Amino acid sequence: MSEMQTEYPAHRDSRESLTAWREAQPDNAFLDDAHFRRTLEVYRDPQIHDDLDDDLEEFGAEVAGPIDELARQNDRPGNHPELDRWSDFGQRTEQIAHHPSYHEVGRRIYGSGVMAAYRDAPNSVGALSRFYLSSYNGEAGHNCPLACTAGVIRVLQHLAPDRLRDRYLDGFLNPDYDEHLEGAQFMTEIQGGSDVGQNATRARRADDGSWRLWGEKWFCSNVDADVFLMTARFAEDVEGTSGLGLFFVPRRLEDGELNNFRIRRLKDKIGTRAMASAECDFEGAVAYHMGPEEEGFKNMMRHVINTSRLYNAFACLGSARRAYVTAQTYSRFREAFGRPIVQYPLIQETIADVKAEVDAAVSGSMYLAALQDRIDADLATEAGEDFFRMALNLNKVRTAKLSRWAATRGIEVLGGNGAIETFSVLPRLLRDSIVTENWEGTHNTLQMQVMRDIDKYGIHEGFFEILGELVEASAESEGQRAETVRREMRQSKVALQEVASMDEEAATLQMRPLMDRLARLMYASVRLWERSQYPDAPSDVDDASLDHFIGRHIGTRPDPEDRSHRERLALLAGID
Ligand SMILES: Cc1cc2nc3c(=O)[nH]c(=O)nc-3n(C[C@H](O)[C@H](O)[C@H](O)COP(=O)(O)OP(=O)(O)OC[C@H]3O[C@@H](n4cnc5c(N)ncnc54)[C@H](O)[C@@H]3O)c2cc1C
Repeated sequence: MSEMQTEYPAHRDSRESLTAWREAQPDNAFLDDAHFRRTLEVYRDPQIHDDLDDDLEEFGAEVAGPIDELARQNDRPGNHPELDRWSDFGQRTEQIAHHPSYHEVGRRIYGSGVMAAYRDAPNSVGALSRFYLSSYNGEAGHNCPLACTAGVIRVLQHLAPDRLRDRYLDGFLNPDYDEHLEGAQFMTEIQGGSDVGQNATRARRADDGSWRLWGEKWFCSNVDADVFLMTARFAEDVEGTSGLGLFFVPRRLEDGELNNFRIRRLKDKIGTRAMASAECDFEGAVAYHMGPEEEGFKNMMRHVINTSRLYNAFACLGSARRAYVTAQTYSRFREAFGRPIVQYPLIQETIADVKAEVDAAVSGSMYLAALQDRIDADLATEAGEDFFRMALNLNKVRTAKLSRWAATRGIEVLGGNGAIETFSVLPRLLRDSIVTENWEGTHNTLQMQVMRDIDKYGIHEGFFEILGELVEASAESEGQRAETVRREMRQSKVALQEVASMDEEAATLQMRPLMDRLARLMYASVRLWERSQYPDAPSDVDDASLDHFIGRHIGTRPDPEDRSHRERLALLAGID
């Protein structure tokens, strides 16, 4: 062996342990996720979710197996989407050329029934359970399209005239990727995304009652979709969001011709790179208004943006769960100073923190998915609807921060290897998470919306009413924990009242930490309630995860000298 080829035993052993780590990755993202499976027991509706576990088990194997590899391929430099504007014979198509792996991922994800679940409408629980699993691989080129497609399905189910519903709905529900339809949603213009009331794209009614849109949209994700939902100004003299309608814009017209729009260029993005985001001009694009014009923006928020905010949360959670799994498995194989790093309390604490946060947010988000279904079935109370409106925005912010934080904590556990794109999924998850923090409303915008909703509609009353019910339902079984959460609820109410009495600028500054605090209170309350609904006793890991979450945020901070605290960290880090 030449000197260049020499491999010292220490090198060989390290390489072998890294190989063993790769091989020890779970082969089923559903079966490996005990907390999610348990949570599902609470929200599963036997009437419509009879086969859900079997479907998720099958999909969980795809997610951890072939989709994982394909998603890695489709995000590799050189494999990203490209604008393919003309057909071979010179017809304008405004198409996107994707790497074959993009379509293979799509076949498997849509084939899971993620959008077909809405045939049993309302069924956010069924759709979002699948979506959570598919997000184990980050954006994978398809998360944003799925969220947008879910929005179009809701619009077709709730607002569209029969003619459009009959023509399009089946295509959006079709699980066959090679036949199905996808949606997109274009609101943002160059003058601002948060301040949507500044939208300048114009809509003019045509003689046949349809509309024509003129204007420029600055961020158009999934630009190769079959239908775009768009905001545009239906009346010149009505300012702000009240003058914005909700338009359904098919990519192709009834005669098969391309609708009147052009892609300027594709965006070169930090994350979600396998999915095409563009800048577009609309030059008299044929459009149909959904619902009454004067309710256009309200409907856009209710059916489209709120749906995307819930999807965004599940996307972040799937990704955060993957960061946990990656770090937790690595820590068992990587050695430093003669011991597997999982034996160091600092590593255990990092992994335990991520696990407790993800479990809590999965519970909170599943509760919201089930509540969305109750609202759609007209079964929710007024307090429930107010709770949903407030909790949805708290949850969007919290899960988006969690996703980025979990990716960085994971990278920390992997050390230098964590920063290497080919070594693990973590750099891609981190890049994607920066986008999910901005999509569907930035943190500040959502915070301002919560403040306005509290001020204008008093939605915090319903929020606290539901939290109170959740905690009281668990009071008997959860004794001390319930008391701790009850105390935090009282204190947060006081904190909220103090903020409400401040001048607007001071309130804005106080609201930022309060948003996180309220989201965590919501998670803890839901976690307690879920435990009172489980058919059998919670596991030791479930207990540890909840206690660690409460200790981090709500109760007394754990004493590092407390032996039971250290045992909890070890358990959550996966040391049996
Ligand atoms: C990769 C990617 C894809 C996207 N795809 C789409 C798409 O398909 N369709 C679509 O419509 N949009 C899309 N967006 C746009 C996204 O929704 C916007 O970026 C987002 O809404 C924020 O708008 P903005 O970028 O114009 O920021 P701005 O609105 O200019 O905000 C700039 C900063 O000011 C803050 N700010 C704004 N108002 C306030 C306030 N009142 N108080 C305090 N702070 C405030 C914001 O929080 C932010 O920090 C996409 C974005 C990205 C990154």
